[in-house]
Amino acid sequence: MTDCLFCKIANKEIPSSVVYEDEKVLAFKDINPEAPVHILIIPKVHMDSAQDIRESNSSIMSHIFALIPKLAKDLGVDEKGFRVITNIGEHGGQTVKHLHFHMLGGRNLSWPPG
Ligand code: 5GP
Ligand code: ZN
Repeated sequence: MTDCLFCKIANKEIPSSVVYEDEKVLAFKDINPEAPVHILIIPKVHMDSAQDIRESNSSIMSHIFALIPKLAKDLGVDEKGFRVITNIGEHGGQTVKHLHFHMLGGRNLSWPPG
C-alpha cells in the first residue's frame, strides 16, 4: 500500500530507529514511547491488522513470535518481563492501519488497559 506509513518505514522511504530487520520483518522504536522500551514489530508485507491473518499467511506470526524472546534479551527486558500487544480497529485503539505489535517494557505496566 503506497500511502501506508508503516509500508514507507519498511521500505526506508521514512526513517526509523531500527532495532532488528530481516527479509520479512522490521522492528523499530516507537516515535512516542509509552515505556522505557517501546518498539513496534511489523511484517514488511502490508496487512491492515491482525484481522487479516489467515492460515495461508500465518507463518509471519510464528516468525514474529519466535523473534520476540531474542528481542527481549537484546533490549534487556527478558528477566523483568514485558508486554506484547496489537491494537485492532477503532475500539482497539489502532491508529496506523498496518499490522504491528507493540513491545513494551522497562517499567511496571498497569492492567487492565483504559
Ligand atoms: P496504534 O495506535 O496503531 O496501535 O500504534 C501506532 C503507533 O505508531 C503509536 O504508538 C505511534 O506512536 C507510532 N507511530 C506513529 N507514527 C510513527 C512514525 O512515523 N514513526 C514511528 N517510529 N512510530 C510511529
Ligand atoms: Zn502498510
